[in-house]
Amino acid sequence: MDKVVAYDSTLRDGAQAQGVSFSVEDKLKIIERLDELGIGYIEAGNPGSNPKDLEFFARVGELKLKNAKIIAFGSTCKVGVAAGEDRNVQSLLQANTAAVAIFGKSWDYQVTDILRTSLEENLRMIGSTIRYLKEQGKEVVFDAEHFFDGYKANADYAMRTLEEAESAGADTLCLCDTNGGTFPSDIHSITKLVVERFRVQVGIHCHNDSEMAVANSVAAVEAGARQVQGTINGIGERCGNANLVSIIPNLQLKLGLPCIPSGNMEHLTPVARFVSEVANVTFNEKAPYVGNDAFSHKGGMHIDAVTKNPVSYEHIDPAQVGNVRHILVSEVAGRSALLSKIRAVDAALGKDSPETRRILEHIKLLEHEGYQFESAEGSIQLLVRKLLGKFQSFFDIKEYQVNIKEPSVNGINSSAMIKIVVNGQEEIMAAEGDGPVNALDKALRRALERYYPAIKDVRLTDYKVRVLDSDRATAARVRVLIESADHHESWTTTGVSTDVIDASWRALIDAIEYKLMLDQGRPVN
Ligand SMILES: [Zn+2]
Repeated sequence: MDKVVAYDSTLRDGAQAQGVSFSVEDKLKIIERLDELGIGYIEAGNPGSNPKDLEFFARVGELKLKNAKIIAFGSTCKVGVAAGEDRNVQSLLQANTAAVAIFGKSWDYQVTDILRTSLEENLRMIGSTIRYLKEQGKEVVFDAEHFFDGYKANADYAMRTLEEAESAGADTLCLCDTNGGTFPSDIHSITKLVVERFRVQVGIHCHNDSEMAVANSVAAVEAGARQVQGTINGIGERCGNANLVSIIPNLQLKLGLPCIPSGNMEHLTPVARFVSEVANVTFNEKAPYVGNDAFSHKGGMHIDAVTKNPVSYEHIDPAQVGNVRHILVSEVAGRSALLSKIRAVDAALGKDSPETRRILEHIKLLEHEGYQFESAEGSIQLLVRKLLGKFQSFFDIKEYQVNIKEPSVNGINSSAMIKIVVNGQEEIMAAEGDGPVNALDKALRRALERYYPAIKDVRLTDYKVRVLDSDRATAARVRVLIESADHHESWTTTGVSTDVIDASWRALIDAIEYKLMLDQGRPVN
């Protein structure tokens, strides 16, 4: 069956992104997750340019991988140096992987003006490096750097670099849009010429400088390329690399070209979140397929239609990629949005049921006080459950106290004390923190972790304070929004009060209660 090999370069090209650096442990964890997802090749590092990578390749050899082949990445030998004597080529071998990728120049101007050598010498470097690596028993991917720009400048020479690579025994010829400026129509026509002319597998490697990387990768596959290189979430230098998280479902669900085992597609959202967490890059909630907003519905009429039949405003079923549908409640959305939340808890209730009306009245009242639930889905789900008497309480807060002391010492200026009842047991817990909310958060977690260890996975990812009716100065109400995340998803909770600490405390409690409710059995929605 016709299929496309997904080739991930998050740990090599992705690691070039500003602000991203992976420890050896980070890389090993990411490799295991990518392997579980079913990625065919993982380009894990450049042992020649980074000595840290050699230690890592030794460790990676110990992993038992089900799907992925590990690739060590490097360049052709240097000008005037025999492949067997080139230091970079030697370190590629030291990485001890079954497969390697090497990049070489395919744009004549890059050879003469950047490399400053002759066009013939460049061909020798490509051919002899590949021949040498094949003699050592390696599978070889040849990355033709700047291939599309090179083809436009001097098509004959660009093709000669590929001929040299193929005749030296390369297993894949990967065409690179290194500067990311090529458009899908050109990618398609040029890739097609290459596919028609060469017998070996053709690959595609795109950068996102014109925001075309995903479209370009898909265009290349439509033209016959069967290896797609990219990174998770498109992380990479400048504007990033082609985003595999979009490319994989595009190819598999839309074009019917398998990239990963079909049962693994639901790992896509958790893997995308996991990688952004480890890379310490803010996750893009607007990301197609995997973002929180990808299947969120707000407008009243849209919600009405989506609840009747999701196909009306969704291009795929979110569950296919491990994502979930969100119905956002707001005044515009009105009853229909709320109704779907109520039905998720109790399917027997209709829009004219007394319970539905009671909840609606209650929410109107809270909205009048300054609550806004459309961006606080966690809080609204809790509220609906509580009002329907379907919420099993996990803990009971008796009281809390905070003290703020300035100047701070080592960033610590606050202490908090809470009194809480868990499983009939009264606990008093204190903690210090950087600000009163941080101290409260720590005290609450400390009190609960013994009973609910999963709380350790929860991270506060965003904290927003909005002052309402600001003309009343310090007496004004504030609305706090807290975004939290675990390894699976993120959720937002809210609190309103005239006091910012109290508003934060309410949002914080909701955040923890929501997590515990999620773990108990994830509510449909
Ligand atoms: Zn690249």
